[in-house]
This record gives sequence, structure tokens and C-alpha cells, in this order.
Amino acid sequence: MRVLVVSDVHSNLVALEAVLDAAGPVDRVWHLGDIVGYGPDPDEVVARLADLRAVGVRGNHDAAATGAIDTDWFNSDARTAIEWTKATIAPATRAWLDALPETRVETGFGLVHGSYRDPTWEYIVDPDDARASLVLLEGNGTTLGLFGHTHVPVAYRDEGGRRTAEILVGDRTAIPLDERPTLLNPGSVGQPRDGDPRASFVILDTEAVSATWHRVAYDIGAVQATMRTIGLPERLAIRLSFGR
Ligand code: ZN
Repeated sequence: MRVLVVSDVHSNLVALEAVLDAAGPVDRVWHLGDIVGYGPDPDEVVARLADLRAVGVRGNHDAAATGAIDTDWFNSDARTAIEWTKATIAPATRAWLDALPETRVETGFGLVHGSYRDPTWEYIVDPDDARASLVLLEGNGTTLGLFGHTHVPVAYRDEGGRRTAEILVGDRTAIPLDERPTLLNPGSVGQPRDGDPRASFVILDTEAVSATWHRVAYDIGAVQATMRTIGLPERLAIRLSFGR
């Protein structure tokens, strides 16, 4: 089975369409939350993912957009965008976001937005964070986990002897998945933050048991123009050009 894994789409329909084109035919689409927030197309992105029968988990921006958590936790630009999102989204969009669980397991892979210690808020940014989540993941009988939230593509693998390795990944990096417990971050579709402005995603091959990262360019100018028309914070538009 070929699975497209996306995270942190952040209401960026143009980036999502570029990813779907580049991914080619897939059997499933899994997402790791933060479907909305920051960007200009929340209803369209949710409708597209619903149409694809994508399954996934809830991110902090999704929870804020439905009113499940307070927007006081967000910085001012993020809060401005999420308040606009909250006021704009259709009831069907809200209902779809509201139905997302905090974690789920699909075909032996654990899915979470932040971490297994704190699905909504914790950022996994180093091997120590990853190890804490791998221990919890294994406690649930799963050794392969997918996470998002940091907007940075990366993998962490348990090398035995309490050693967790950080594996740096880029466009076309493929890693085999074996019995070693591993956490994978596909990077962000709609707002990458690793210095590469191209949309990021992963293709999982559940037969070959491998993961391959991909980057795809999209029309950033078109998204920025829509953001400016709506009046979303300028800094959120500019950062798309830099992938920061
Ligand atoms: Zn995010």
C-alpha cells in the first residue's frame, strides 16, 4: 500500500494541490493535524481532504479553530489568523475538524500531531524528546510513529542501548523501516520552516516498509496574494517565501 503522509497543511490549498499532483496515485492519505490556521483556504483544504477520505489527528490550530482550546496560547500573528479562521469556516469544516482524535493507529503506524507525551503542544526537536515518545509508543504496542507540529522533516530511530539517532532528510531521502522503533516527521505542506520553501511530504510503502521524503515547489505568490486580499498578517505571507 502506498500512503501519502501530510502534516501542517495550514489552509494552503495551492501547496496541497501541488503535493497531491507530485505524489501520484496513492491508496491512502494520512494527515498529522494543523489542517487550518495561518493560511487563506480552510474550507477548501478540509473539503479536499474529506473528499480523499484522509484520516488523521487534531493539531493545536485545529483545536483552536473549533473553540476546543483557547487562542491565548498563540502568538499574535497566529492568533489573528486563527480568529479569522474561526469566524470564517463553514459548519461542515468545523464538524470535520471537531471529529479528529488526538492520536490514532493506522496499519501499525501511530499518528500524532505534537508528541506522545503531549499530542497537542509538545515539539519533538531532539533525540531526547523523541526517545520519550518512542517509549510511550512502544508501550502501546507500536514501533513506528508519525508526528508533525515542528514543520521540519526529520526521523529519529532507536539504535539500541538507549541511543536514539537523528536522521536528517531532504528531497528523495528514503529510509527502510525495520524492527527498530522510529519516529518520522514528513515536514509541512503549507508552511515549511527548515529554510526550504517547497511543500514537504512523505510517501510510505507499507509492503517494502520504507519512507521517502519529497519536496515540491508551488505558486507561493498566489497564496500570498490571497492572504493579502483577506488581510491576514503580512509576516505570515512573507515567511512562505523563505520557508522559515
Ligand atoms: Zn503547525
